Order: sequence, then structure tokens, then C-alpha cells
Amino acid sequence: MPPPEDDDEDALSLQEQTEERLCNTDNHRLVGQIMFCKPYRCQAISEALVQAWNPRFPVVITPMQENRYCFQFQHKLDLLNVLDEGPWAVRGNLLLLEHWNENQEWGFQSTDFWVQIHEVPLELFNLEVASQLAAKVGQPKQVILVQGFQFGAKVRYVRARVHISIVKPLRQSITVKRRSKNSSTVLLRYERLPSFCYFCGLFDHEVKRCVLFSMLNISTAWSMDAQRRQAVPPSLTSDMVLH
Ligand SMILES: [Zn+2]
Repeated sequence: MPPPEDDDEDALSLQEQTEERLCNTDNHRLVGQIMFCKPYRCQAISEALVQAWNPRFPVVITPMQENRYCFQFQHKLDLLNVLDEGPWAVRGNLLLLEHWNENQEWGFQSTDFWVQIHEVPLELFNLEVASQLAAKVGQPKQVILVQGFQFGAKVRYVRARVHISIVKPLRQSITVKRRSKNSSTVLLRYERLPSFCYFCGLFDHEVKRCVLFSMLNISTAWSMDAQRRQAVPPSLTSDMVLH
């Protein structure tokens, strides 16, 4: 029987300062998984993402396994900007990003989205209800009321940064029930929405590979539904009011 590893005199115990340095490097590292099992060339990913991220310092991208990549940042701010401004997509396909961890265990089951909630009745347009609506979509991190003009048109909607599970179908509306038994429906729009199955609302396949869709044999023009869920980020003008 070989001795346990801890007692092995030949084993290398890393020095404390080496461990510290590795820990610091790990803190500047993300792991990304691209949805859809379509192999990409690393070069293509590198070009697409670096152009989109526009980091101040170079990012080293290393392939790990199929559709999974390690992103090594030089500066923490570049990493935080990438996380704050997501979700990101590679050729339209969702890229899920998580912090590096020593055990190399990642779930890749959720991501942050900016969600816009439209058609909220005027009497319900306040932060209290807006926060409750955002919580029906996922875990809210920030909730904002947006009122004003965008591209010359009057707009009024809730904008929320929400951590969303991609294992569940993407919601497109929420019904608000009132004590008076009157109910209203608010519509959900997603900013930077990547490709997804606009029939069942999942991100891991397109509609042409959707089992549910093929079973139902529906021939309706579903692509219109996908377009309706896309949202344009607000361009803030002087008369735009944010709460
Ligand atoms: Zn589907």
C-alpha cells in the first residue's frame, strides 16, 4: 500500500506566497459555457468577445472542454464590467459565466438579465410592486422605474437586473391579481436576449430542435414571438426620470 499523500516526503507542498499568488490569479478568472452544442473555434470566440467586452487589458482565453472556456483577466475591473453588462452571446448563443473555483464545479444554470416590465397599470407603477414583479422573474438585484421619452416615443416601464434560472422556460408575462378580482397582465422584455427556443422558452436548443414543438406539429409563425421578447436598453435623455 502506498502511504497517504500527506505523508509522502516527495510531495510538493506549495509555499504560502505561491498559494496567495494563485488565489489572486483565480480571482481574476471566469469560466464560460456556451449554450448549444456547436463547436466553435477559440479564435472566433476570442474575436467576438474581446470586441464586445472592450477590456482595458488583454484577456487570455483557454479552451477547457467542448464549448467551455477559461477567461483570465489582468484587471479585476474588466472582469466586473463583463459580469455587470451581460448576458453575452457568441454568434447569438448564450454564454454563461461563473467565477473560477478550485474544485472546478460550476452549475451553468443561471445568469443576470436586464428585464423590462411593460404595460404595468399606472396605479401599480411604484417600486414596491415593481420589486414584487421582478421577484416573479428571478432574484432581483436592482429595480428601476423608467419614465420619459425614448426615440421620440413616451415610455413607462420597470427595468430590473434579475438573476434568472435558464433551466426554466423564459417567462413572457405575469398576471397581477387584485383583491377586487380584476386582473391585469404585464409583459416581459429582455435586453440583449440571445438565441433561445421561442416555442418552449429554453436556451439549450433552437425551435427546429424542440421536441415539444415537433410533437405538437404547429406551423404558426413563432418567430414573431421571439422578436416581441427583445428589448432595447434605455437611452437616457434629459426628460427621462429614473427612481
Ligand atoms: Zn423548445
